[in-house]
Amino acid sequence: MTKAAALATAREDLELLPDPDHNLSVEEVKLLWSFLHGDIMIGGIRQRLREHWGLCPRHSWGHAVVEIELWQAGAGLRAGHQPFEIGILYEDLLETMIRKLSDSRPRSRMSVLTPRGICPICRDLRGPAIPGIGGGGYAGSDSAALTIEANEMIHMRQWVAETRTLWHACPSCASTRDDVDAVLCRRHILQRGSLTDEDARSLVVKLSDTRELLVPLVESMTQTGRPSTGLADASWIHALGWFHGWTFPLALAQCGAESPL
Ligand SMILES: [Zn+2]
Ligand SMILES: [Zn+2]
Repeated sequence: MTKAAALATAREDLELLPDPDHNLSVEEVKLLWSFLHGDIMIGGIRQRLREHWGLCPRHSWGHAVVEIELWQAGAGLRAGHQPFEIGILYEDLLETMIRKLSDSRPRSRMSVLTPRGICPICRDLRGPAIPGIGGGGYAGSDSAALTIEANEMIHMRQWVAETRTLWHACPSCASTRDDVDAVLCRRHILQRGSLTDEDARSLVVKLSDTRELLVPLVESMTQTGRPSTGLADASWIHALGWFHGWTFPLALAQCGAESPL
């Protein structure tokens, strides 16, 4: 195994966390940045993302970090540093998941929830050397400088601080059963290994609620959209939290609470 492949294998098992041992590498930021700039819109890739339920957990949260930290210009009140592409992708993934779960029988449910294929970022990390690493990044940008900026997570911390009181985090991720409105994330349902008809029905309602809030959030980031609400602002974190687990936003909320900006 080459050094790059060993590093990639080590990375994909690693949760993304806001500390130097778990931060995004230069290679990851470069790939995610280029993914944001076009790959995600390609039809075949979108289909693969539907089959894999997005990227792996590390790179899904990394995708949000890279978009929110590095994408400085945008439409709507915030005019940048917002999860626009993330919002569009998760409207699509939630719609697909809601349809598949609604049509599913108990025996096929774990298979519906299981990702198929491989995360495209993990696949590219494992591949041969990535051109431009160590030199210029995407469109001449400096990948090392972008990586430092992404890992500071300044704007992510702000999104977390503004929405934290509205979260209903997975009880297993959060290690608490106090929140009666919370549902298990996809990863913890898979770990449990079953989903009854009743649980599936209430899960479909929760996922539909999240999707309904994601729509005005995405609209608020367009030229004609109205400003979003707090609940809509929290919806993209609910979407990623359900698909990929809440470890990352909970850790960010924790370190934000310990050292407020
Ligand atoms: Zn990945
Ligand atoms: Zn969980």
